[in-house]
Amino acid sequence: SKARLFDEKNDIKVTFKDVAGLEGAKEEIQEIVEFLKNPEKYTSIGGKIPKGALLVGPPGTGKTLLAKAVAGEAKVPFFSLSGSDFVEMFVGVGASRVRDLFKQAKEKSPAIIFIDEIDAVGRARGKNNFSGSNDERENTLNQLLTEMDGFGTNTNVIVLAATNRADVLDKALMRAGRFDRQIYVDLPDIRERREIFEVHLKPLKKAEDLDTEFLAKQTPGFSGADIANVCNEAALVAARKDKKMVDKQDFLDAVDRIVGGLEKKNKIVSPEE
Ligand code: ATP
Repeated sequence: SKARLFDEKNDIKVTFKDVAGLEGAKEEIQEIVEFLKNPEKYTSIGGKIPKGALLVGPPGTGKTLLAKAVAGEAKVPFFSLSGSDFVEMFVGVGASRVRDLFKQAKEKSPAIIFIDEIDAVGRARGKNNFSGSNDERENTLNQLLTEMDGFGTNTNVIVLAATNRADVLDKALMRAGRFDRQIYVDLPDIRERREIFEVHLKPLKKAEDLDTEFLAKQTPGFSGADIANVCNEAALVAARKDKKMVDKQDFLDAVDRIVGGLEKKNKIVSPEE
């Protein structure tokens, strides 16, 4: 059977209210929602809708969530693939996958294409030439640039891409008419952590002693993904102890576990550094 080329979702339920904090990023990306909802409003007076925007920020801060929320808010299909899927691909497959992806999205436009970990394909060309797959990576990147340049002004497909390494990206990607907008998605501050806790506490049976301000204070440096993880871990801790509700101590235990995990992870030196 043929491998899945990319994901296509036509009924995204995520909206901006699922994305806690990130007020600045939501405000900036709201414009893209408006374009997708009513492209003619902009093109009929001769405006050109942007083709792409880069979501830049540390892992787990909600870049994928935000991209999905754009599709959910605008009620358009969401096509996604991950740059890391291309890393071990046979010659020609990456480029043809990109071609198919754009073809499908155009057929269903207005639509969003989301490319996660774009740095895996979008690294500056001609560097780190130590692996055999490099030529294939360049072919894939070139195809992506070709597709974006080939968009007419009335294509109504917007490409969002996420990275935590904007510094390594090929400058050609950031040229006008490509990913010429950058939207920063940072780690949450204390107030934002509180809001993220509110979102992820919702499905839990909570004890009286739970207080989001306290939880936000206990979790400096945590990303949204870490907080979602803490909430689930706390529920598991409570259930293991046969509790009927999740309490403060379960959260403290969960935070300890996650902090332990983060410390281990940070000791692994990335081979790319
Ligand atoms: P990566 O760079 O690792 O791909 P990312 O920035 O794309 O990460 P997401 O995949 O969007 O991060 O986040 C993972 C999960 O963490 C989300 O599905 C959600 O449950 C939670 N999360 C992250 N940020 C937020 C946020 N701002 N509000 C609510 N939940 C969040």
